Amino acid sequence: MLGFNYIPHNRPTLGREEKKAAIQVLQSSWLAQGKEVEHFENDFCDFLGLPQGSAIAVSSGTAALYLALIALDAQDKNIASPVYSCTALRNATALAGGNLLLTDSHIHSPNMNIHAIDSTAHIAIIPHMYGLPQDFSTLNRKISIIEDCAQSLGATVNQVPVGLQGDIGIYSFYATKLITSGGQGGMIVSKNPTIIEKLKDYRLYDRRFDDLLRFNFQMTDLQAAIGRAQLKQFPKFQNRRSDIFQQYKEANFPLLDATSDMSPVRFRAILQTTKQFEILTALSQNNISAVVPLQEIELLGPKEHYPNAYSWTQNTVSLPIYPSLKDKEVQRIIRIVKSILS
Ligand SMILES: *Cc1c(COP(=O)(O)O)cnc(C)c1O
Repeated sequence: MLGFNYIPHNRPTLGREEKKAAIQVLQSSWLAQGKEVEHFENDFCDFLGLPQGSAIAVSSGTAALYLALIALDAQDKNIASPVYSCTALRNATALAGGNLLLTDSHIHSPNMNIHAIDSTAHIAIIPHMYGLPQDFSTLNRKISIIEDCAQSLGATVNQVPVGLQGDIGIYSFYATKLITSGGQGGMIVSKNPTIIEKLKDYRLYDRRFDDLLRFNFQMTDLQAAIGRAQLKQFPKFQNRRSDIFQQYKEANFPLLDATSDMSPVRFRAILQTTKQFEILTALSQNNISAVVPLQEIELLGPKEHYPNAYSWTQNTVSLPIYPSLKDKEVQRIIRIVKSILS
């Protein structure tokens, strides 16, 4: 019984622009990877300030991760990954034939502690969780870095957009990420043209005249057109997300935030609290959906070995924050959370 006043934890923001873009593709009768995908890749390069041709669109964020690992010849190599993150990291690593080396979170941030990366790692997958960017400039650069920006499109470190610090950046356009390409989609960026060529080749199996194995990781023009419409509105989306985050801050919520030298994006509003259960229960009783952003059971390794990551699963609550959330709804959430916190 969700009722008329139900507030979901998340929902995509879709409107006239997306509808128009989708209809245009349907009327063109070209649905598969074509001009729209190429335009989306170019728009994405422009957005990040990269030369055109530095981005390739794929079917999902997981596909992007897998392909990034393939491009770096991950087979039989040691791949460092946070224990506190999306299971896509473990899946992509295993499918690419790499050995997973798990790393704990920071004590002061759920992000992976990059200084705890095992010294035998060849490649590290480093996500910027919840829109909170990490600076890698102090990291030993003998390892290759895949920057997982699935939750942090638009965040910057020293004015550099996330995705450009490492060797490869990957993005997800799943329905509830910062922008969506119609439910699923992903992007890979790299300044290295050899990597881009390799990925372009691997993405498409059709009409090839050699014996090399390839797969089908293409994005469709229908997805790309919706993704382009969303990317155009990104600044507007961001403003609204920041505005909601600010309202939570003004209510004195103990929110996770980036250090002052970072420029985060407001993908998630995460309360850091010992009253996880009480807050979730009170919100749920009031028809509002909040979640534990990453549960104990989702950790990629045993909690005993990763005390910081385990602790993040126990004392966080993710509140609704998305462009279509109304001020009245934000105020309702604030009222209920306040009643528990105070
Ligand atoms: C969502 C997500 C992915 C996977 O993206 P999909 O498009 O869902 O395959 C990978 N890494 C992180 C950090 C994510 O949040």
